[in-house]
Amino acid sequence: MLLSRWWIRKAGFATRADRRVYKNGWEAIIGIEVHAQINSKTKLFSDMETSYEEPPNSKVNLVDLAFPGVQPRLNERCVELAVKTALALKSNVQYQSSFDRKHYFYPDLPQGYQITQQREPIARGGMIELTELDGASEPIRVGLHQIQLEQDTGKSMHELGSTLLDMNRAGTGLMEIVTQPDMRNSFEAGLVVKKLQSVLQCVGSSQASMNEGSMRCDVNVSVHRDGEPFGTRCEIKNLNSIRFLSMAIDAEIERQIQLLEQGGKVIPETRGFDVAGRKTFRLRSKETAPDYRYMPEPDLPKLILSQEYVDSIAMDLPELPDETRTRIMKQYSMSLDDANSLLNEPGSLDFFEKVCKGRNSQMVLNWTVNDLFRELALKETPFHACPITVEEMGALVDMVEKNTITGKIGKDVLHIMLQEGGGHPQDIVDKKGWARIDDSALLKSICEDLVAKHTQQATKFKEGEKKMYKWFIGQIMRETKGLADPNQINAALCDALGCKLEDVADMLGGKQKKNKK
Ligand code: ADP
Ligand code: MG
Repeated sequence: MLLSRWWIRKAGFATRADRRVYKNGWEAIIGIEVHAQINSKTKLFSDMETSYEEPPNSKVNLVDLAFPGVQPRLNERCVELAVKTALALKSNVQYQSSFDRKHYFYPDLPQGYQITQQREPIARGGMIELTELDGASEPIRVGLHQIQLEQDTGKSMHELGSTLLDMNRAGTGLMEIVTQPDMRNSFEAGLVVKKLQSVLQCVGSSQASMNEGSMRCDVNVSVHRDGEPFGTRCEIKNLNSIRFLSMAIDAEIERQIQLLEQGGKVIPETRGFDVAGRKTFRLRSKETAPDYRYMPEPDLPKLILSQEYVDSIAMDLPELPDETRTRIMKQYSMSLDDANSLLNEPGSLDFFEKVCKGRNSQMVLNWTVNDLFRELALKETPFHACPITVEEMGALVDMVEKNTITGKIGKDVLHIMLQEGGGHPQDIVDKKGWARIDDSALLKSICEDLVAKHTQQATKFKEGEKKMYKWFIGQIMRETKGLADPNQINAALCDALGCKLEDVADMLGGKQKKNKK
């Protein structure tokens, strides 16, 4: 396995069962429908700002509420971002696309229909490729059916017997990305979603955050026996993390196999996922699915894109995640795990590369991927909410590099920087009095005093009880509060105990800072 367990866990997979054949020769087929909120300042057909954390119903205008006589006007920025996404996913941008009305009645849909692209989507085809570098056990290509533009709905909240409506989200632009049924297990499906997220975030077309709701996935699952045609599929809706998505797929595969083995039949239906029970449950049957009465949207002209326009966007496409990964692994000679970690935390690679300017990249990498990421994970803070600036992080690395502070103190300083929402590391060190003790005479006398005071322990050590060395180290660390350099401590302590560093080398094993490759 190329990926560490740590990365798998971090990516949020419930399992890493990547088998393609289940018990008794059953195989599973999975297709995904993704809705990604477009990163645009305004909504798809109105000039109202998109909002995520504003008070309910404060970002709504007459178009969003479908007042009589209002008309939609297509937001160019949304088109541009959808085209960017399509190009990044090798999907064919359609020079002509159009909009349709999809009718249904629900309180959070003020128009009584959603404007979508049922007949002529903005892009067709495309491909997501997974390689071993992504964690797949064999290279996989997952085809894309199409990418379409459509409106989001408002939000309904059912509370205390009544329904509350927040229309802030109503009319926000979405890209619906539909894959071909090309995945065989929950692990592959999770990797595909992960990859999609990284591409969307890279081109800047969506925040693509599942738990914040800017990316929502429905999965279609069916099972069949090896050699037989695909089975009947069920759709599982509203999965808001990769972990739940993969758990739901596993549960659904299990349910369908069991049902079929007992002589039952899979009925096409829409299902939900009960996380606590690890079971999918029926929401509604596909047979009773509403008739959406699709019709061409009469208030919007066809969307015609010129070759020139599409070419100019293609020219402007940023370096895509796969290319970036290859580049940074080479440029900074970093491991696949480290590269994936940086690529998986939106914004962190840019931060890392900026901190690297003029510094030892190996050290910056350690401090970013190991220390900073760990601290952020402990606080459950996503990288984009990290308060530390490039300058502050750079200053911290410099202080450790120049030995102004010890590595241990560096970690404490980093902890405080996050706790206090930033701040210059030098100020923290000054305030706490954490500058490194760079006084070998002082260390010498501390060690000599300790050895003189604890004759019993010193004798034991001299009689061969090597672990007493560690006991002395502990005492010194306490007295110097971690402010002294470990190498200097060892030199002074060996002198005081009358031994050589080689004699106690095996006692230092765990303490010695390994230089991570
Ligand atoms: P619907 O309108 O029912 O949602 P769509 O055509 O929009 O249908 O979406 C179909 C989704 O189901 C696609 O992601 C496709 O890959 C997937 N799919 C199609 N056939 C199967 C199957 N036999 N098993 C699993 N998934 C399937
Ligand atoms: Mg669908």
